Amino acid sequence: MVILNSHRCTYCGGCVSVCPVEALTLHETRLVVLEECIDCGDCVASCPVGALQMETTQQPSEQREPHRKYDAVVVGAGPGGSTAARTMAEAGLSVLLLEKRQEIGSPVRCAEGIGQEQLTSFIEPDPSWIAAEVDKAEITSVKGDERNTIQGSGGSGYILERRIFDRVLAEMATDAGVHVMVKTPATALLMEEGRIRGVRIRDCFSQGNAEIDIEARLIIAADGIEAQVGRWAGLDLQLPLEDTMVCAQFLLANIDIDPTCTYYEINHDIAPGGYAWVFPKGDGKANVGLGVQADLWEEFADQNPECRRIGHGTVLGFLTRYIESNPRLERGNPVTLITGNVPVNPLSSNILADGLLIVGDAARQVDPLTGGGIYTAMTAGQLAGQVAAGALSANDTSARFLKKYQEGWDQSEGRKLKRNARLRHKFPPEARSDSRFLHAFATAVGG
Ligand code: FAD
Repeated sequence: MVILNSHRCTYCGGCVSVCPVEALTLHETRLVVLEECIDCGDCVASCPVGALQMETTQQPSEQREPHRKYDAVVVGAGPGGSTAARTMAEAGLSVLLLEKRQEIGSPVRCAEGIGQEQLTSFIEPDPSWIAAEVDKAEITSVKGDERNTIQGSGGSGYILERRIFDRVLAEMATDAGVHVMVKTPATALLMEEGRIRGVRIRDCFSQGNAEIDIEARLIIAADGIEAQVGRWAGLDLQLPLEDTMVCAQFLLANIDIDPTCTYYEINHDIAPGGYAWVFPKGDGKANVGLGVQADLWEEFADQNPECRRIGHGTVLGFLTRYIESNPRLERGNPVTLITGNVPVNPLSSNILADGLLIVGDAARQVDPLTGGGIYTAMTAGQLAGQVAAGALSANDTSARFLKKYQEGWDQSEGRKLKRNARLRHKFPPEARSDSRFLHAFATAVGG
């Protein structure tokens, strides 16, 4: 039977098309070789990356390649990682930026909204990655039959095409001199006498998925919600369920909404502990989604048989129910589904260690009221990059030196996130239709 190297597979489906006995199936990003395989080798010949091999010709595991060295390695090429990497390269450091996915920015896990001032403080908007410009926000809270709608303060902003935006940020990093590697996960931290001295990566395109040790004086972990790198360093980054929003979103086509307005609905019966959103993406399309507090939705679905009817009471079912109940949306066609979790309680510590800084979702640097984390990840990435550059030029990457990052964060964006976290805790989930919460939310939406 043919052997599949799943780390290397790029899910193109070419092998499925040439197989004479239908022994291969592709489940979106998972290729399966079935027992029907007759070892004809046609799939091996059709694979562009060598992910399929005949059993007999499979190569033995690769020898480790010689070490490579950088001043700093950034794990994760989201907005936080690319900004951190670029900041360090602009300060003259040699930087490696690792991304485990084969395409930076894809799959998207985001509603793609960002405030105008927030975006332009980092990059000039470009039509190639702006899907819509918005200039108002409509925020509705619902309790029973009572609906209360207000306009958000500010509200000018953009709905991005993150698939392109994230890649552009990485391209800006390469322009500054950063070395980017895609489909290259970090798999471990290299430690020596308790100190970080680099990362281990899996080179999916080498024979036998060689693991390569990369030496670096400093690591920036920008690995998103998964936040594994910090855990490898022994930091407690486990996300409690009550601090997690479970989200589902469709890109709906053929809907009738104001293309310049973002819509929010805080409604405990629709999205317990969270809210539903409609963010226009031009041409009668919008990101329509909702986030539900992870520790609440199962019990809620049990108490509401209607939720169990649709989507078996999953958060995706909550979203379907919301769309079906909304006359502006019910005729829309879903053309994309995305799912993801959002951390909604920023860490007050644990965002650094000797030789390590953590940024963005990995450090839970997300607005606890809105779930917005693009701008905060970029802000943290820039600050971390600046502190890292200072630490490397002073030849001191101790946690004591790197504490400047925590201090800088606490005095700037971190202060706002903590205030919003306090507000979120002050209003328990079922009390968030209160008009005081509505106004606080509207202020947060306005940036
Ligand atoms: P990410 O963008 O998650 O990037 C992390 C990267 O690290 C990923 O590319 C991942 O593949 C890579 N990675 C992980 N582990 C490894 C590894 N071991 N080796 C190599 N690479 C690795 N925010 C907003 O501002 N506006 C919104 O409208 C909005 N809507 C959202 C809607 C949903 C449904 C969700 C889930 C989130 C939303 N967010 C929104 C939040 C926003 O998407 C994140 O806060 C933001 O992407 C965080 O950026 P980041 O760079 O920290 O992490």
